[in-house]
Amino acid sequence: MKIILATSNRGKIREITEIFAQDEIIPFSDLLRDMEIVEDGEDFAANALIKARAVAKRVDDDDFVVLSDDSGITVPALNNEPGIFSARYAGAGAKDIDNLNKLIKELEKKGLTEAPAFYTAAVAVVTKEAEYVAHGWMHGKVIDRARGGGGFGYDPIFIPKGYDKTLAELDPTVKRRLSHRSKALGLVRPIIELLRSSDA
Ligand code: IMP
Repeated sequence: MKIILATSNRGKIREITEIFAQDEIIPFSDLLRDMEIVEDGEDFAANALIKARAVAKRVDDDDFVVLSDDSGITVPALNNEPGIFSARYAGAGAKDIDNLNKLIKELEKKGLTEAPAFYTAAVAVVTKEAEYVAHGWMHGKVIDRARGGGGFGYDPIFIPKGYDKTLAELDPTVKRRLSHRSKALGLVRPIIELLRSSDA
């Protein structure tokens, strides 16, 4: 059974393939021509399903599951921004660095040097016959200065609860253990196993 990943975000592809190390994960761009997916859902789960369904509809094979991840960071002191708009916080087509700088600017506007924050991931599993969604969260705080060269996205300004380094400074094994994505993927793993065994 093929596991097709409905994302072209390199950071996500790297993390998901590390977590599902014993499975063959195929980014959808290896099978399908690039496609524009409009993520206009009201929450992470809706957007994860939109992405996975769009890819599943295009796959010309019966033996597959599509896995998608919709995720983002929420800062309660900034009216819960950027949330589901994390990928385009600094505008359509914004790069990770632009979004991170926008978040720092918004903290500065409020006179904050740090603020509690959390990541959310919704992971959807879609086949021709079924759909599932699971969530994971990682709590901590954001700071007003980028530190470290690892991770992706907002990781250089996110310090997980119980640590004093950013996710971009910490060893990647720490993120793998704690992350919103790892937790959501841990929940869908048995679903994928079940689909695989009923498939056999
Ligand atoms: P999506 O691809 O539409 O789900 O957008 C996800 C957005 O949230 C991107 O801007 C990512 O940079 C950010 N994001 C999601 N998960 C993480 C993470 O684990 N670390 C850093 N940024 C993340």
